[in-house]
Amino acid sequence: MRTPLVMGNWKLFGTKDTISALIKGIEGTANSTKNVEVVVCPPPIFIEHVAKLTQNNNLKFGAQNVSEHITGAFTGETSSDMVKEFGAKYTLVGHSERRQYHFETNEMVARKFMAAQNSGLIPVLCIGERLLDRETHKTFEVLEKQLKAVTNLVGVAAFEKAVIAYEPMWAIGTGRVATAEQAQEVHSFIRSWLRAQNEVVAEKVQILYGGSVKANNAKNLFAQPDIDGGLVGGAALIVEEFVGIIEAI
Ligand code: PEP
Repeated sequence: MRTPLVMGNWKLFGTKDTISALIKGIEGTANSTKNVEVVVCPPPIFIEHVAKLTQNNNLKFGAQNVSEHITGAFTGETSSDMVKEFGAKYTLVGHSERRQYHFETNEMVARKFMAAQNSGLIPVLCIGERLLDRETHKTFEVLEKQLKAVTNLVGVAAFEKAVIAYEPMWAIGTGRVATAEQAQEVHSFIRSWLRAQNEVVAEKVQILYGGSVKANNAKNLFAQPDIDGGLVGGAALIVEEFVGIIEAI
């Protein structure tokens, strides 16, 4: 079936030293927990450092973002080809902080998804609604638009080599976690939406939950049938928390 996946998004945190210490702290658990894939997403400047530190353990790594362009006059950007060259397996695309602070549209995120796959990376498509969307019962409508932008560009079959992360914006970095039932309801919606177009893809794609996942709430979330793991922000920077989350699978 689907391999459970736990991903740490380190955002704009870390130094070479703190990253080395974090990896040292989690690699034993990643090595011994055979049925879970553990992935860390460092800031881009530390990709090479992390590539070296994960050569001899079971940890995989990914980028937090890539450009929609592969090469060209795009100052400050990092391309999916560059990230792949250093051995990354994944990249996040469309994290809500990118959508919110860098004005990434659904269509731009779809182009990043395509660029990532063209480079041989597995895109982790982050989708999620704002609090206002939830309160006005627009959650499914918003998610459908975010998914559709991708399927319109690359087709539903592209999700065979992709991951989806459902991250309600009101739960990211707020300490306010979705209940397991709320998360399962949305994960089930996402899988059904895909199933209506391609059953094989729907059964295969890993759908992660993200938003204030901690060691003490992970077990309940991961026990849901359509939740295949987590995308973890703050708690991924604390060894005991991240290890606890991996062990909750
Ligand atoms: C994230 O950055 O994707 C995230 C889910 O953050 P946090 O776990 O801190 O809410």
